[in-house]
Amino acid sequence: MEEMKVDSTGLFFQSFRTLIKSGAVGISYSNLSGVILNANQSFLKLFGYTKLEVKSGKMSWQLLTPHEYLPLPGAVENLKKSGNSPVLPKEYLRKDGSRVSALIISAVLNHAKAEVINFLFDISDTKLLEEHLSVMNKNYQSIWNSGIVGINFWNTDGYILDCNDAYTDILGYTKEEIKRGEVKWFDMVDPAINKYKAGIEAAVLGQSVKPYETRHRHKDGGYRDLMIMYTMLYGSKNEGISLVIDITDKKQAEMRLERTTERMRKITENMEDMVTIHDRDFRFVYVSPAIQTVTNLPLSDIIGKTTWDMGTHPAICAYFDKCLSKVFLEKTGTVAEYKNIDGRHFQSVLTPEFDLNGEVENVLVVTRDITEMKQQIQQRESFVSMVSHELKSPMTSLKVYLQMTERSLLKGDMEGAKNFIKKANAHANRQVGLINHLLEVARNDSGKITLNFTEFNIAQLVNECVEITSLQYNHNHITVHPYSDFIVKADYERLMQVIVNLLSNASRYSSRGSEIIISLSSYQDRFLVKVKDSGQGIPEDKLPFIFDRFYRATEDGHSSSGLGLGLYISAQIVEKHHGQIWAESIPKVGSEFFVELPLNGDIDRIKY
Ligand code: ADP
Repeated sequence: MEEMKVDSTGLFFQSFRTLIKSGAVGISYSNLSGVILNANQSFLKLFGYTKLEVKSGKMSWQLLTPHEYLPLPGAVENLKKSGNSPVLPKEYLRKDGSRVSALIISAVLNHAKAEVINFLFDISDTKLLEEHLSVMNKNYQSIWNSGIVGINFWNTDGYILDCNDAYTDILGYTKEEIKRGEVKWFDMVDPAINKYKAGIEAAVLGQSVKPYETRHRHKDGGYRDLMIMYTMLYGSKNEGISLVIDITDKKQAEMRLERTTERMRKITENMEDMVTIHDRDFRFVYVSPAIQTVTNLPLSDIIGKTTWDMGTHPAICAYFDKCLSKVFLEKTGTVAEYKNIDGRHFQSVLTPEFDLNGEVENVLVVTRDITEMKQQIQQRESFVSMVSHELKSPMTSLKVYLQMTERSLLKGDMEGAKNFIKKANAHANRQVGLINHLLEVARNDSGKITLNFTEFNIAQLVNECVEITSLQYNHNHITVHPYSDFIVKADYERLMQVIVNLLSNASRYSSRGSEIIISLSSYQDRFLVKVKDSGQGIPEDKLPFIFDRFYRATEDGHSSSGLGLGLYISAQIVEKHHGQIWAESIPKVGSEFFVELPLNGDIDRIKY
């Protein structure tokens, strides 16, 4: 040092100047009282002081030293004694109060014992790095011990080298088995999934491998669904680290959800009800195939449209929009009912579908064609009122005639009484007839009509029917037209019911005294019964429906009142015999009913 000081133009001095200017080292002179007398730019910059402040003696080690290290005399004494201070990383205060980590070497200058030279190296960055590393290490430890993420180290030969407890929990192998090199992850991968090798090759080449889902076999033989992410260890070409998360439960829930969704899709697509989903602009976002019962457009053409775009009647569109708005705004379901221009009735059940914020995102609509249901309700209502009316009127008449009989008897008028009893009887018979018809329908509806086949002479049956009808309706003449007698096989009672019904109708719907003609014929293996009247006839537009249940082509009148069941029952009986029944009619001229049956109505039963 002595030589160096003397040789102010020498190599050392030059090097020293270079060092001072370089900015890499902070250099200052101070006296033993701690006042800094001079300093280079790096030194000043590090502590935030100006040259002027140094020159005016405002920078001192006392100010730079944090309070916990004060007072300094011990250090000054040591410095004096040994000539230089030990090299130690220390903390100092900047002018603004913040702290800086630095490595300081101080030495007492020889030529002036009171002066000290200080070399200072800023080590704040190194300090930070150390702290950072320590935090990282702590974080790594907490991940390692968390129990949630399985971590393992492996090599490219397929072995697991080490792992945390979470990994052993996921796949069931013990750490000892792993450490003994008994666990090969190559062997664990589900053979159905063979994608991992390409990933490892890429990782070895330094490429990044995205997290992926896979399945590994558990020690118990079953499989676990895993989410894996891995990377090669720094600088290594054959060892890597993996993070493993068990997603088996999530996968199974997904599978169950998929199955349910698929099931729902099948149900929806095969349902007669129309299922549609509408977005906030009321556009169709989903339509089930059943919608093709009301529109012939391909499903893909409907998506993205509104009911207005589909050409639906404006009144229905407006009503439907109102219902959708209600669900979107009130966030509750609603039911809509409307009638199409073709007269069909529809019922829609609208249900809100919510987004994650609890707002209605879509509206699910299930629409059902309720036309038939409406008709049935209407039919049932009119049937109940008709039945009560029909059953009440013969009963009232019956009561009246019985009262009149009583009066006649009291008066001793036997002839009158006989006459009233006859009339009362006729009304009682009508009542029984109505009730029988109802029972018949109920029986037929539950499939209980059974036929009792016997062989008989059809002419004999026809005669009996004429006789019965004539007794009940004696105001018409029934002519039985040329017939040949032949044997048929049928249910005698049931066939009688059909023919009596046709003859009674012919009588009821004709004017007094008009003629009714019944004729019989056979050809090949079938025979035909015709009943012709010259009564009121049946309007052409009503003719196709007269065999329907509860259908009446005539306005209610006393003589012709009925339930509209006679022809329906007759048609059922004829059908059971494998026959046909039909009618021809000209209003105000008359009607003709035809019953065509096989000679052997039991034919099917013989076959099987
Ligand atoms: P109903 O008890 O009403 O007579 P049916 O089933 O026997 O019931 O007949 C159904 C309808 O067919 C009757 O209401 C009537 O309008 C019409 N009809 C049946 N037979 C005749 C007929 N011979 N002449 C005119 N109309 C008839």
